[in-house]
Amino acid sequence: MKNITIIGAGISGLYIANLLSQNSNYQVTIYEKNGSVDLEKGYGIQLSVNSIKLLNQINFQKIRIEDKFHPNKLDFYSLKNNKKICDLDISMFNSTDTKYTTLQRSTLINFLKDGLHKNIIHYNKKVIKINEEVKNKEVSFEDGSSVKCDYLIISDGTFSKTKSLIANKEIKPKYFNSIALRATIDQDALKSINLENISLFLGSNLHSVLYPVNSKGQFNFISILRKKLRTEELSDYSLFENKDFTASIISKISKQVAPETINNLRSIKCFPIFVSSKMHEPKNKNTFIIGDAFFALPPTFAQGASQSIEVAHELYKNLENENTQFNSERVKRVKMIDMKSKLNYFAFHLSNPLTIWIRNLIMQKLVKNEKFINSYLGKIYKD
Ligand SMILES: Cc1cc2nc3c(=O)[nH]c(=O)nc-3n(C[C@H](O)[C@H](O)[C@H](O)COP(=O)(O)OP(=O)(O)OC[C@H]3O[C@@H](n4cnc5c(N)ncnc54)[C@H](O)[C@@H]3O)c2cc1C
Repeated sequence: MKNITIIGAGISGLYIANLLSQNSNYQVTIYEKNGSVDLEKGYGIQLSVNSIKLLNQINFQKIRIEDKFHPNKLDFYSLKNNKKICDLDISMFNSTDTKYTTLQRSTLINFLKDGLHKNIIHYNKKVIKINEEVKNKEVSFEDGSSVKCDYLIISDGTFSKTKSLIANKEIKPKYFNSIALRATIDQDALKSINLENISLFLGSNLHSVLYPVNSKGQFNFISILRKKLRTEELSDYSLFENKDFTASIISKISKQVAPETINNLRSIKCFPIFVSSKMHEPKNKNTFIIGDAFFALPPTFAQGASQSIEVAHELYKNLENENTQFNSERVKRVKMIDMKSKLNYFAFHLSNPLTIWIRNLIMQKLVKNEKFINSYLGKIYKD
């Protein structure tokens, strides 16, 4: 029997626990610092077919049809003149059971949590120390308790403290010079868009995305705004809960986004976007890092959760085959997606009218070019 300790009950930790629990040779426990899993209702998540295929291995296809949505296209609009630029068929990579899916984050988290035996997740367990010198690693928590394990899986997110503990130095993510504003909105408030698709609005130094999170008319709104922040502002996280700060971000966004949309946003939240600059390889061969702790991507390819699921699945396969090393292909793949996410960010945020005109022309050509689509999207969605 192998004792497996997972740190963090986010998408990656919960998914790998579901896979490992299928094998009775593993004793799996998740330690989560909070008192519950994060079930903020409303906000959405997009999952492309590469992760849906892996989620189906734990019966994701059984989620009720009214609790998810399968958009067919990605419609691009210009925020300057509210005209549609072009559309991209994202359903071309779908198959009968494996479809591009949008849903509430809480639906996904609940599904992953419900797949686990009740006593697998231990809450209010914040890791503060790791001892890898002993044969069975020892993990110590803030409440004074400790556990021993054969394998340690670190999945504590972008700001992973556990990664810093095993590296014996502080590893910090980098501020991506952008703020995200997240909200929910009802479809009745949305005019002139195709409600069956994902709508992506390109503005100057900002872009917004609207998509359904279920078949009941609820939509997710997200806007990413380019914004430099001073070090003091970044270190004061309460700033992002401050009403005046949120109001200043809404005011900036409302200069470009339609007032009917802005006035109907509900449960608005602002947060800074942080990304990874490097992948860190643990020295100990039975310690693994997955999810955003492994590498936090910019959100402009909507691949964070999908990659968290892919990496978790790859680790599960490796453990089953007693191979305790990630292969170099994984590193190459993450770098490729990181580069494409940054390229999208650049293209989505142009502000010069001439470069915008050229970009729109290029986009109109590219979305019809099958070879390009197969290479740009297919390399992520299919391979
Ligand atoms: C604006 C934005 C939009 C996004 N949209 C999408 C999208 O549409 N599609 C997509 O695929 N991805 C998207 N993502 C990315 C996606 O949300 C993340 O990649 C994914 O949630 C990462 O999961 P995780 O399990 O690695 O980390 P997390 O979900 O952050 O979970 C980490 C867990 O570890 C716990 N923890 C932290 N520290 C400790 C500790 N010391 N001890 C114990 N527990 C600890 C935390 O409480 C948390 O529960 C988006 C990200 C952003 C910023």
